[in-house]
Amino acid sequence: MKKLNILFFSIGLTAFAQSPDASIMKAAESIEDKVINWRHDIHEHPELSNQEFETAAKIAAHLKSLGIEVQTEIAKTGVVGILKGKKPGKVVALRADIDALPVTERNDLAFKSNVTANFLGTETGVMHACGHDTHVAILMGVAEILSKHKDKINGTVKFIFQPAEEGPPPGEEGGASLMIKEGVLKNPDVDAIFGLHINSATPVGQINYKPGGIMAAVERFVVKVNGKQTHGSQPWGGVDPIYISSKIIDGFQSIISRESNLLVEPAVITVGKITSGVRFNIIPESAELIGTVRTLDPNMRELIIRRMTEMTEGLAKAYGGSATIEFQSNTAITYNDEALTEQMLPTLQKVAGADKVNLVKATTGGEDFSYFQEEVPGLYFFLGGMTPGNKEAYPHHTPDFQIDDAGMLLGVKVMSQLTLDYLNKK
Ligand SMILES: [Zn+2]
Ligand SMILES: [Zn+2]
Repeated sequence: MKKLNILFFSIGLTAFAQSPDASIMKAAESIEDKVINWRHDIHEHPELSNQEFETAAKIAAHLKSLGIEVQTEIAKTGVVGILKGKKPGKVVALRADIDALPVTERNDLAFKSNVTANFLGTETGVMHACGHDTHVAILMGVAEILSKHKDKINGTVKFIFQPAEEGPPPGEEGGASLMIKEGVLKNPDVDAIFGLHINSATPVGQINYKPGGIMAAVERFVVKVNGKQTHGSQPWGGVDPIYISSKIIDGFQSIISRESNLLVEPAVITVGKITSGVRFNIIPESAELIGTVRTLDPNMRELIIRRMTEMTEGLAKAYGGSATIEFQSNTAITYNDEALTEQMLPTLQKVAGADKVNLVKATTGGEDFSYFQEEVPGLYFFLGGMTPGNKEAYPHHTPDFQIDDAGMLLGVKVMSQLTLDYLNKK
């Protein structure tokens, strides 16, 4: 009897979990060809960060044609659409990043990019080598579907088309943080935000998610070590900044291996550049180390930054010199709110199929969606874009990077259903 009860209970749950909104799913399927065409057009005409003028114009025209209220030139080239449902309620934001990269495409596609641009003084090809073209097309599709089903929406949907996710050019502001600064999460105030990233190594039809940190906070740091110049044959006459640098690098790695609880999350410190000295027999005056820190847990991030500062100053002093360290935050932790993730997981499962939704490990790459998540609860997940049966995939940001068009349909379905389920929760 007891067993029977459990059986009935689980059948009931499964039945609920397996029923996405049939008319929304059908609507998504009926516009799949349009979504693919949008993607091809945007892929063929990629634009670099903070220069997404034509992309933004296409998005704005589409949203306007749907009767959605449109704001343009948010954070330079960003577009925001506001769709009010039939009844009042919460506000959910859906975000797509829209920029391309200075990469020369090597794919043989009918919609291959032949666009070139000058990037920091170098003439280069421009390519949607991270798949943001698919993000734009997916969210344009979601906007089309939801705008035609306003009667199903209790609340408001904000469509955020964000420029410069890959980082604005040096000296320029841009991306998620600038959008927030310009008030994108206010008026009406956003209660939750959803975002996705297509993935070239995950098969079409699959979704990868993780509660908590899913992508790393990215810090860039610069250490300046001051010594005292002397003849290379007489080190006792000065203070050697190269030797001090070696102690600091060693100290940094001991923060990871001896002080960080790696059972909580992984963490990385990399020194990627060292500059010092002019010739073999001079101990120079100074040295500079440049590197990056990647963390996935807020407490570990705080500890690592504090200890790196103490190591830098303390070790330099111990060896008779002095040193400073400066950090620049490139992204925060892409941190999936645990309660929101738990709430929305059944939606991912009923749209994709429970066996297609995978709990994954975090990655040490960064994503500026994290800044939205510092302001409001957010859920960010990965969507399969690899042709089924492929054994290998070219990584993002490479000239051979490819995404299968067939991957986008699930993205349109999931984002639409997430919106409805979040806003219509009793
Ligand atoms: Zn990227
Ligand atoms: Zn990306």
